[in-house]
Amino acid sequence: MKASQKESDVYWNPLIETLPMEKMRDLQLKKFKRILEWAYERSKFHRGLYQQAGLEPGDIKTYEDVSKIPKVEKAMMRDIQRKDPFPYGDALCVPLEEVTEFRQTSGTTGTPVYQPDTWQDWEWWAEAWAYLLYAQSYRKTDRVFLPFGYNIFVAFWAGHYAAEKIGCEVIPGGVLDTEARILKIQELRANAMMATPTYVLGMADTAKKKLGIDPARDLTIRKITCAGEPGASIPSTKQRMEEAWGAKVYDHVGATEIGAWGFECTAQPGGLHVNEALFLTQLEDIETGKIIEEPGRKGKIIITALDRIAQPCIRFDSKDVAEWSKEPCPCGRTFRIIQGGVAGRADDITKIKGVLLAPSAIEEVVHSIKGLSNEFEAVVTKKGDLDDITLKIEILPEEEKNREAILTQLKDQLRLKTNLGYNIEVHPFNSLPRYEVKAKRFKDLRKHG
Ligand SMILES: [Zn+2]
Repeated sequence: MKASQKESDVYWNPLIETLPMEKMRDLQLKKFKRILEWAYERSKFHRGLYQQAGLEPGDIKTYEDVSKIPKVEKAMMRDIQRKDPFPYGDALCVPLEEVTEFRQTSGTTGTPVYQPDTWQDWEWWAEAWAYLLYAQSYRKTDRVFLPFGYNIFVAFWAGHYAAEKIGCEVIPGGVLDTEARILKIQELRANAMMATPTYVLGMADTAKKKLGIDPARDLTIRKITCAGEPGASIPSTKQRMEEAWGAKVYDHVGATEIGAWGFECTAQPGGLHVNEALFLTQLEDIETGKIIEEPGRKGKIIITALDRIAQPCIRFDSKDVAEWSKEPCPCGRTFRIIQGGVAGRADDITKIKGVLLAPSAIEEVVHSIKGLSNEFEAVVTKKGDLDDITLKIEILPEEEKNREAILTQLKDQLRLKTNLGYNIEVHPFNSLPRYEVKAKRFKDLRKHG
């Protein structure tokens, strides 16, 4: 009945995380039909969407049929919000009194989308995070610090409950400022932490400059779970974080409307597992809309949360771009891997001088060059009919003597990795904007003239 000691020590759910792919597909199809029927029967929004496409839940008979179901985009969710039943609108599938959690999306553009969850959904959030924290070696013996604002965004709330569920000791660093958080980590000898890459790097800077504390030498944090930005899947940014803290840094992806759907394991195969137990994840060709099953081809990620009931997430267009990995993971999980993590959002990928650019490629280059600070800003403008891109960077004071070599290396690498030429502006150290949680380092001003 019980899994062997060894297996139970590796996986949060040994049975499901090693399930052969065919069995997994059967399970996913069964659960997909269940959530589809649930939404069809209870939500005007979903029923309308499927009726318009001439579909009923009974039409879904095979795994391939899943892609017949229309996709839901964030804009559609925005349209139904703030209507009856107030404030969620008619995608709600439970009586209002069953809702126990309110969160909203944290996107930087557009009106936020409200996200209701029931208590059962909230437990599901914690379960999804438990898979990922366990895969990142969180155990009962860990003391976990959360330098997080505990606010209206879901962010690390679920990470908090999942760490408790695993049996870790959890320290909520809520209203403390950055210095107080660092001192608390030191005082309590916390050994794990969850934060955005921007904040992980910002904390290390503050520790060194304001407190004379070198996190790698003076603190005991040895694993960090990142979310909210792609940084932990950008090799140079990950390396900067690992060196600053003397810790392993792991990535995870999720979204308010979807849930925590992907994670890096301790084997770090150069990508993220998708959680196939709780989500049905499909890659779709951006041009043709066809489902991509083979490795090595980029597509848009379409996700269904198989067990979320209050405001279901069925075939949600995440706008994230990724590709399947060729290799299975040495950790033994059968959950598929998206190679290199999420490469960028389809929305963020933009054409400059006729070349496709994912802003994360600029971050990868800047953070790979030793003499540059963590901060940078890329600004795209139009000069007459031509696109123009300026990259603002800072050189570390101790590296000023290597200024020319650094700039040459930067230009070469940018040309190599992004196929674009940039105007480089060197700004005084510490003068570019610093961000508390999520950074906004890419500015496209072309649309605004
Ligand atoms: Zn793995």
